Amino acid sequence: DGSAEAPAPRAKRARKAQLRFQDLPELKDIRTQQAVAELIGVGTPFFRVHDDRAGATTHIDGRTILNFASYNYLGLNGHPEVSAAAKAAIDRYGTSVSASRLVAGERPIHQELEGRIARFIGVEAAVCFVSGHATNVSAIGHLMRQGDLVLYDSLAHNSIVVGATLSGATRRLFPHNDLDALEEMLIAHAHGHARVLVVVEGLYSMDGDFPDLKRLVALRERFGFWLMVDEAHSLGVLGKTGRGIAEEAGVDPNEIDIWMGTLSKTLSGCGGYIAGSAALCDYLKFSAPGFVYSVGMPPPVAGAAIASLDVLEREPERVTKLRAIGQRFVEKAKAAGLDVGASAGFAISPVMVGDSLRAVHLANRLLERGVNALPIIHPAVPERSARLRFFFTSEHEPAHIDEAVAVTADEHAKLAEAGFGIKMAAA
Ligand code: PMP
Repeated sequence: DGSAEAPAPRAKRARKAQLRFQDLPELKDIRTQQAVAELIGVGTPFFRVHDDRAGATTHIDGRTILNFASYNYLGLNGHPEVSAAAKAAIDRYGTSVSASRLVAGERPIHQELEGRIARFIGVEAAVCFVSGHATNVSAIGHLMRQGDLVLYDSLAHNSIVVGATLSGATRRLFPHNDLDALEEMLIAHAHGHARVLVVVEGLYSMDGDFPDLKRLVALRERFGFWLMVDEAHSLGVLGKTGRGIAEEAGVDPNEIDIWMGTLSKTLSGCGGYIAGSAALCDYLKFSAPGFVYSVGMPPPVAGAAIASLDVLEREPERVTKLRAIGQRFVEKAKAAGLDVGASAGFAISPVMVGDSLRAVHLANRLLERGVNALPIIHPAVPERSARLRFFFTSEHEPAHIDEAVAVTADEHAKLAEAGFGIKMAAA
């Protein structure tokens, strides 16, 4: 009964201060950065509100803007057939399944979607999670454990890093797309661990390039590891019919142990999938925390993804068109003297700027001139490789690309002339 001694008033006050969210040191850092940006007249490009659906164009503050900042790669979000499918799913099932699938949330539309994804990719089975990020966290975190080794590309998405961290396995990253370095790591470290997982992406969202899948498959054969490919950005983008990097590389999809992808890009929804063998998918369905202890995918999202696959299978010309648009951007940008880094000209291209503040400034200038492309700045990328990132959609027309390149080259040159380039402190 009150035997625990009350903390001294000063300690109590310090404790209270420590718990105030507005005093979190990390939040103060963010506020300082915002204040500096405000002071030198560089508004923040983040959390800008788009008035409605974003495709090749978007509406911001009532203005029509050329848009290069959406994952709507094949223009399927907002496609009448896709929206109709989402509405039909709501009419039949409601907006939620109101339970984990394991207990009372299983619906025919889940099985239909997973069957369609598996067939599209060319593997046995698939399992869907309600978030793409959670798919990587949950699957990697659950499959790997202490004593195992996870090797991933240095540009791997945060969800891969978080999953590997949570798993308790030893983690090592290899330099971006450097499979010689990966091979050396496998020689040096594979033997000392129980299981080894190698994670790469089908198309890297920062640089717009992709790995040599044939060589990865050969390394898998030689060293014996699970090969996992995150196709968030390559599904619907790579391969003649949009089936992803395996189709692009001419590799049997069954040579890859774990396919991962999202429904938030080409498939016009949100959520993610793991695809591969039936045993892998069963294991995750019965035991992965992010699946078992999470609600089943909302029916309208599943409906939209199925309809997106319908349109994609019926109209592979969307994939061809996206490719032509991406190639045009890369060619025109290079001709205009812009640096597109390693971009292969599929769906994504950076324009290298150099430092963070300059990238933010350039993005703001472009928006003033009717072009929306977002800056990627430190700490998302090293300070010296801050860039603008352009995402393309099959809805873009050649004239959109020409306009974007002309405006970007013009503003880029003006900034260089003005000597604009205040280095942001590398935090
Ligand atoms: N993997 C990669 C490679 C990604 O780029 C993203 C997010 N863009 C995710 C996973 C997470 O997917 P989601 O946004 O659908 O949660």
